[in-house]
Amino acid sequence: MYHESILYLRIVMVGNKLNKLIKKVIVLGGGTAGWMSATLIKKVIGSAVDVELVESDTIGTIGVGEATIPPIKLFNSVLGIDEAEFIRETKATIKLGIKFDHWKQQGQSYIHTFGAAGKSLPFCHFHHLWLRSRQLGNTSTLWDYDLNYLCAEAGKFAQIKSKDPILELPNAYHFDATLYAAYLRKIAEKMGVKRTEGLVEDVSQDKESGFIQSLHLKSGKKITGDLFLDCTGLAAVLIQRKLGTGYEDWNHWLRCDRAYAVASERFEKTLPYTRSIAHSAGWQWRIPLQHRNGNGLVYSSTHYSDDEAAGILLNNLESEAIAEPRLFKYRTGRRIKQWNKNVIAVGLSSGFLEPLESTSIHLIQSAIVRLLHLFPHDGIAESAIKEYNRQSKIEFEQIRDFIILHYHLNERSDSQFWSDLRNMEIPASLKLKLDIFADKGLLFRDQEDLFLESSWLQVMLGQGVTPKDYHPIADSFSKDNLLHMLQQIKEIKHEPLAHLPSHDEYLKNISKL
Ligand SMILES: Cc1cc2nc3c(=O)[nH]c(=O)nc-3n(C[C@H](O)[C@H](O)[C@H](O)COP(=O)(O)OP(=O)(O)OC[C@H]3O[C@@H](n4cnc5c(N)ncnc54)[C@H](O)[C@@H]3O)c2cc1C
Repeated sequence: MYHESILYLRIVMVGNKLNKLIKKVIVLGGGTAGWMSATLIKKVIGSAVDVELVESDTIGTIGVGEATIPPIKLFNSVLGIDEAEFIRETKATIKLGIKFDHWKQQGQSYIHTFGAAGKSLPFCHFHHLWLRSRQLGNTSTLWDYDLNYLCAEAGKFAQIKSKDPILELPNAYHFDATLYAAYLRKIAEKMGVKRTEGLVEDVSQDKESGFIQSLHLKSGKKITGDLFLDCTGLAAVLIQRKLGTGYEDWNHWLRCDRAYAVASERFEKTLPYTRSIAHSAGWQWRIPLQHRNGNGLVYSSTHYSDDEAAGILLNNLESEAIAEPRLFKYRTGRRIKQWNKNVIAVGLSSGFLEPLESTSIHLIQSAIVRLLHLFPHDGIAESAIKEYNRQSKIEFEQIRDFIILHYHLNERSDSQFWSDLRNMEIPASLKLKLDIFADKGLLFRDQEDLFLESSWLQVMLGQGVTPKDYHPIADSFSKDNLLHMLQQIKEIKHEPLAHLPSHDEYLKNISKL
């Protein structure tokens, strides 16, 4: 489950301005980051600023990034996007969670769903009741009380219209990244975003402040602006090449540094979840779209040669590859200042966290929303830059910790890669979270953490942490009452299954709308 309050927009005024009025925003880059930024900025404050997007057709976009998390629905709805149209245009499918295969041990699986198991009591999460019930002989897993899990396994989906939160079925999407950028471009241009095609070859800065003044294109054209969004992907043309901002490397925790991606034929049945399949030195993703599967292998180049990695990926597709595998090299970490002078890095230019929990597109969304909160319409203030960078740092670190959790909690004995990760020193923030859960079964959500307690719970339980204790409130029920209550919750969670269409039927019906 995900924290969604980031979309409540509020424009904050900050004193101590360093620059002139912001009348023109230049977005450099036309990948997912560029078009999401241009569209939302135009939608929210388009009457106050002009937005121009510059992109190079010769460079193109990264063309991967197809699995999302539920807050994307809020992004789409703020833009007034019709869901049926979006699903048709981007060949999207429904995502109810991520299935992790072989992460704890080979042969073992669990799903990190977007839902929450059971029904919590005030001061007592549902899992405490379930933990006690296990001691009383209940053999159901936590996931037996999670509607997202039940629908994922049954391959079923529809939007459930119930006011009872116990029947919520939160979803995200898998979509074709290239089609999504093209779809947003149409919306943005209709709203008045100007698009310029061209390769930026040079950049001018103000001599005193170092602020960017203009971009110089290969064609000879000069593009001036007041605020620049660097959406140039891993090239980081403005934030790094021009401003030399610096990067914090997290490779000592997250050892994978390369990925191969390849598309393959779709399966007959479209699964409503992403697959993440662990291998001996990395993991493979499988993303079901309407017209094909997106696949990739994220791996450590210390442990696999590129040829070996490509071979592992191609041998594990389970359907025919329809393109040649493409190689990506990256450094996991974050840009030290994501806002530097009058440049804000959005998307891959701001840092890289591997796609294990599909968080990069969300980081784009949250960067734009943060900028809109702190938008420097009457001048850039150092305090606003500091606040923006403080929030971005926390956000990146929280997601980093959640990803490290998956690697650290493994019991695999088949490779040095997994035993090194199990034995590595983890960030103190993560260690505390793990210890308190293992000792007491307790979960606390850090302020603004994207991942809610149910997400941490599922990954910790799914990868083998069984708490030694549960909350004493669970003891306030008699044995019979507790088991009866859990049985009732389970029945309520199972009820919708009989009426829901299959995921494929749902997609077929929605494409007719
Ligand atoms: C292997 C892999 C798998 C991923 N999977 C997921 C996933 O499942 N879910 C998820 O949320 N994220 C995922 N991501 C991340 C996701 O792909 C990106 O966050 C997203 O695509 C945004 O990319 P971008 O727009 O920042 O960069 P890009 O798509 O690379 O766009 C860069 C743009 O900048 C332009 N440009 C660059 N240099 C210049 C120049 N000099 N002049 C003019 N224009 C220029 C290019 O033309 C292009 O338009 C994945 C990333 C990788 C590498």
